[in-house]
Amino acid sequence: MACRPAALRAGARGSGYLLANHYSLVTVLSAQSVITTVAGNGRVLRGEGGPASLAALGELQGEEHWAMVVYFAFMDVKQVIEDFQDYLAPKLDTYEQAIYLYLFRHSRLQGKDEIVTGFVSARLRMAFGVGEKGKPMSKNTCYEKLQSLESKGCINIVDKERDGTGIRLLLPSEISGLIPQEQPIQELTLDELDFFNVPENRPAILRREGNKCFYCFRALNSNNYVIEHVTSRPEGNNTYRNVVAACRDCNNRKGNISADEFLRGLYRRGYLSATDFEARSDALTQLRSGDLKPSFP
Ligand SMILES: [Zn+2]
Repeated sequence: MACRPAALRAGARGSGYLLANHYSLVTVLSAQSVITTVAGNGRVLRGEGGPASLAALGELQGEEHWAMVVYFAFMDVKQVIEDFQDYLAPKLDTYEQAIYLYLFRHSRLQGKDEIVTGFVSARLRMAFGVGEKGKPMSKNTCYEKLQSLESKGCINIVDKERDGTGIRLLLPSEISGLIPQEQPIQELTLDELDFFNVPENRPAILRREGNKCFYCFRALNSNNYVIEHVTSRPEGNNTYRNVVAACRDCNNRKGNISADEFLRGLYRRGYLSATDFEARSDALTQLRSGDLKPSFP
């Protein structure tokens, strides 16, 4: 039966989860992928630590295959190598890089969390060719570099035994603070946008007013309008609920009096008809309650 994954989910950087509920073979994992963990009921699931392509997975029988969800954590080797080269290598000297790759090759790449390595002999293989005059690194250098790798958070030295040193290697993505986290771009909500101090936001207010002065209906264009505070600062803010597009005359005359009072004055002096005055007063109420939202092209 072909693999029927319910979902393939991205996990932490360099890993992923295949969420499957009914299968006999896993065929979607690439050849680079290594199953490091299989969580299941243990009766039909095997393959921990082996290459994904060789994972032995049984078909679940009866109703349980619908009820059961299995997670496979696999390592994306391509991502690990990229992270190593881009983020970790610049922080390591050549000895440390060589030791790190040696440990990676013999632990995590094999699906093992931890290895015990005898460095007296392993040092001859792990950094071959980089030593002075082609010599392998000395025993002292090797231990010194292990210490510095540990202090840089790349490895945990678990214990030292007679036949070697127990080491747990951390992938670049597991080393705290190594890979900068992508900052999610914060989208400002409409209520947070500044329509007074941010020049590129201002035309949206002019458009909302239909290219007319909010108070007196005089025609406006992009060269002769001003952004006017309905409630003057500092009490009033720069949001779309408190700014309007106005002609310079209205802006100058209004000064610090309230917008309601200013509209009444325009009506009394004959600049606004009774109908227009009522319409403008209604618009003012709508503006304050957030009903007059500007739109962006
Ligand atoms: Zn006006």
